Formats: sequence, C-alpha cells, structure tokens
Amino acid sequence: MKIKFQALASGSNGNCGILTTPEGALLIEAGITRKKLLYLLRKAKISPTDLQGILISHSHSDHCRGLPVITESLNVPIISSKGTREGFRGFQSLDSRWKHITKKSVTINSSTALSFGAFQIHSLPTVHDALGANGFFIEYNDIGISIVTDTGRLLPHHLDAINKSNIVLLEMNHDIAALYRSHRTIWLKKRIRGTHLDNGQTIDALSQIDTESKVLMFGHLSGECNSPKLVKNELAKWGKDIEDFPWDCYICRRNSPGPLITLSGGDKLSSSENSLNLNSLKETYKPPKDLLSYFS
Ligand SMILES: [Zn+2]
Ligand SMILES: [Zn+2]
Repeated sequence: MKIKFQALASGSNGNCGILTTPEGALLIEAGITRKKLLYLLRKAKISPTDLQGILISHSHSDHCRGLPVITESLNVPIISSKGTREGFRGFQSLDSRWKHITKKSVTINSSTALSFGAFQIHSLPTVHDALGANGFFIEYNDIGISIVTDTGRLLPHHLDAINKSNIVLLEMNHDIAALYRSHRTIWLKKRIRGTHLDNGQTIDALSQIDTESKVLMFGHLSGECNSPKLVKNELAKWGKDIEDFPWDCYICRRNSPGPLITLSGGDKLSSSENSLNLNSLKETYKPPKDLLSYFS
C-alpha cells in the first residue's frame, strides 16, 4: 500500500497539492487554473478521473480560484467547511458557475472527522480572516498527512495533528524584517502578521514536534517577503546543523511542483522516494523554462 503526495504549487498566489492512493486521489486546494492543473497532473502522471474530491481550506482566491473552471470538466465533490461555502456564495455575482460548486459541496466540521472513501478527513480550524478557514489532517490507513497554512498562530490541535503525521506541509509565509521592509501599507502588514505564520513562528513550533518518520515541507511562501534563502537563515538560527535534520525536509516551490513524496504503509513506514534533502534549500524559485513558456 503506497501513497504519494506532491505540492503542485504553494504560495500566496496559488496553492494546489495532490494526494494519490491506490483507492483514489484527493486534490488539496484549487488555487491554480484548470490549464495549469491539467498540465501538472499530466506531468505527475495522474489521470483527472482518479480524483475523488477537492479539499478547499478557505475561500481566498489563492486556494479556490480555479474551482469554477476545474469543476466544469471534473464532476467531483468539493470538501469544505460551511463557512468556506458561504464564502463561495460571495463569488456568485461575479461568476454564476460558483452556484454549481456550492451544490457539489460536502461539509467538513471541526467536531467530527469526515469519512470519505478510504480517507478520514479532519478539519483543523485556523486563525485567519476567512469564514470557516481550516487546515487538514488526513488519515489513510496508518498514514497521516497534515496541511496547515494560512494561520496567524499554530494551535494545540495543529501540533497534535502534525505530531501524528508522516507528511506535513507547514506554512512559512514571511520573514518579519522583509515584510516590514516591503512597500505594503501598515494595515496590510498587520493583517499578514495576524493571519499567516512567519518563519520564526514555524521554527519555534518545530521544537514541539516529534521528528520521527516525518517528511516536512515548508510552504505558502510570500513572493515579496520571503525566499528559500531567508527560510534557510531562520533554520540556521534555530541552532541545528542544517545537514543533521532528522527528517526529509524541503521548501515548496511557488509556481511549479515540488518533489513527489512516496510512503509505503505497513508495520514500518519506509523512507520517501525522490524527496529532496536540505540541499534543495539552495534552489531558487525560478520555474523551469518549459513552464514559463507554457503559461506566458
Ligand atoms: Zn493562502
Ligand atoms: Zn488565505
């Protein structure tokens, strides 16, 4: 029994990931266009017909803007909180296709896990400025995956889910100094501070995380107020020798897919396949040329 996870895009201008199992796949967020999604699925050798559902964490466009077009050709349920669905209603006056999306929704709530095919999906409410915003803890047999982004703070239920997970995608949105140096309004800077994790907050949380058998991904980086280099600096400040990380660790790319993580379940989890080690921190965000030409 194998599962695969790949962040197809992760950042403040578009988020999307795919979790694949022998019993079907889940798309996690739809903040990219259908054209880009189909292209990336093809590159990842995943058929769109394998998709069983689309999880949406909240109604900000970097997480859901592709839904109206994606769901025209993919007849799959949208799994989201009631609040997120309310947020979708706000888009109906701009594009009537949002009406069909609210009809296709399956509701997730923070009190009970949703049994969805072979998955148990738990909602992890976040500190964010969108109604019903949440992260996810997804269980598939004995494997756990946590996705926690767009939150001003990490709460005990986030840490609990992360500790139980084998694969974790955790937000590192901004570097505080870079944010204050940026040309954003004071209001926007304060808003970002209250609704997204900065690099230091995430590093602080790592000391509370059990590091056994975990693949850790840092994601949702701001294009203007963060970079892999700043993330690496913050990791170094934490005092660990960067090469001695006990887990596979990498930074998600903003506009192109990260490595494919493969885990095998059973008595013992095997290590990930094709996941990058910390050398990947040296990568820049430049998307490959073929992607640039494809979308230009
Ligand atoms: Zn976001
Ligand atoms: Zn958001």
